[in-house]
Formats: sequence, C-alpha cells, structure tokens
Amino acid sequence: MTKTQCHTCPAHCELDEGQIGACHARVNREGHVTAENYGRITGFALDPVEKKPFARWMGGSYLLSVGSYGCNLHCPFCQNDDISQVGADDVRWRSLSPEQLVEQALDLRNRGNIGIAYTYNEPLVGWAFVSDCAQLAHDAGLLNAVVSNGCIEPGLFAQLLPLFDAVNIDLKAFNEEFYRACGMPTGLDAIKTNIAAAAACPTCHVEVTTLFVGGMSSTDDVRAAGAWLAELDRSIPYHISQYHPAYRWDAPPAPNSTLRALIEELRGTLDTVVGGNMW
Ligand code: SF4
Repeated sequence: MTKTQCHTCPAHCELDEGQIGACHARVNREGHVTAENYGRITGFALDPVEKKPFARWMGGSYLLSVGSYGCNLHCPFCQNDDISQVGADDVRWRSLSPEQLVEQALDLRNRGNIGIAYTYNEPLVGWAFVSDCAQLAHDAGLLNAVVSNGCIEPGLFAQLLPLFDAVNIDLKAFNEEFYRACGMPTGLDAIKTNIAAAAACPTCHVEVTTLFVGGMSSTDDVRAAGAWLAELDRSIPYHISQYHPAYRWDAPPAPNSTLRALIEELRGTLDTVVGGNMW
C-alpha cells in the first residue's frame, strides 16, 4: 500500500490509509492527509489577551479562546498533556463549525471580546479549521490571535500569516537537542524562520515565549535565544514563563530568583521582557 506524506510540519509523517499522524490530529483519508480534529473543540473560554500571553497588544481586551486536541511536539514536560498528547478517543470534544464559532465570538463583543484565539493544544496541526474560522472572523470585523509552537512548514505558515493579527510563538530552546527531546529534531530552523516571517509581517503583531523547564532549560541557552530575538527586532516582547512539573517530567522548577535575574539581564537588549507563572 502506498503511503502519503503530510507536509504540515517538519516531522513529514508517512501515513498508510487511515493512519493517524504523530500529532494525533491528522489522518490519511484516500491519499490526502487532512485534519481529523477539524471543528472538534475541547476548550472554550473568554480569556483576557494578557493570559494568552500578549503583553503589548490590545491590552484590557478579551479573546474567545478555543482549542482542539493534538500536537506535533511531544515535550516530556507538556503543560497541557490532557489535550495535546491525546487523540479523539481520549478526550471529550464537541463539534463547532467556523460559522458557529464566529457567531459566538460576535455574541461576546458586549463582554469585551475582540476576536478569536486559537490556542490550548497546537492549533496549526489543524490549520484548515483555523484558516476557515480566521477568514470568516475577519469578514465579520473580528481579530485572530494564534498561540503556537511555531513548528510548521514555513511555506504554509507564510500562506496563513495574512489571516493572523497576532501570534505568540514558543521558542522552547535555542538548541536542536532540546527539540530532539520533544520529538522534533529538525524543528528549530522552521520555528526561527516562522518567528522572523511574523516579525516582518506588517499586519501581524508577534510575541515569543520560552517556558523555563527545571532540569532542561539553561540560562545560557535563553540568553542565546534573547540575543537572536534582539538582533531580529528588539521590540518583540519576550515572555519567560515558569514551568510546573507535569506529564513525564517532575524536576523542580528553577528558583524564581534565577528567572527574575535572567529577565532583568535580557531587558538590557530587548524592550519588553516579562515573567509568567511565578508563584
Ligand atoms: S502535522 Fe502531524 S501528521 Fe503532519 S507531519 Fe506533523 S506530526 Fe505528522
């Protein structure tokens, strides 16, 4: 039987008929790899934009935030493994069409809603749903924000970018070894290319987040990421977020004092560096 390759992300899964990809979200149906999670919603909430997080975009507003299931990365420390590391049979979901989602987003305008955030799991493994919703949302005068690991083929990301008004992209680390531990040895180049494309896009605001993982992240590596970002555009807001032990990783978080010192240092080269989840 011939296999069909998925071209959504650098994993390039080769799938037999009916086989589901490593992301749990895409499937080979009659020689075409499509999103099995299309319109399948596992999370739905009206969130402040600051929670996405966006530090320098539409402050004080809200976004109708939706997510499905599945992710193309398999980080041992996944903070959302109940929806990201599972498939259709292992999580509760309900179907929602793009028209229904946009209608609900419009209904929430009187509560400060300005648009839709595609978030919670990795939204771009289901990029067709994001694209269909985002187009309708724009037609209705709503904004689109995407919170992504950024690990998608750059050509596809460039096609989608005009639909996005804001993106927050994870830069998990600045070395391939870290991405190898997350199941995507070749991910970093694509992610850097996609961050640079978003930064160059005049209609899309971009922010970047690094989760500081106890026992995996290092201050030197985050310094290298920060230096690269500053070279790209020092006005890109950079979030350094504290992790909590989850999924298959139980190393203690680095002391908040370490993260605070790192943030202070990064503020020497970047205009906006903010800490997250520091309890
Ligand atoms: S999006 Fe999913 S199916 Fe496609 S290559 Fe990536 S992991 Fe594989």
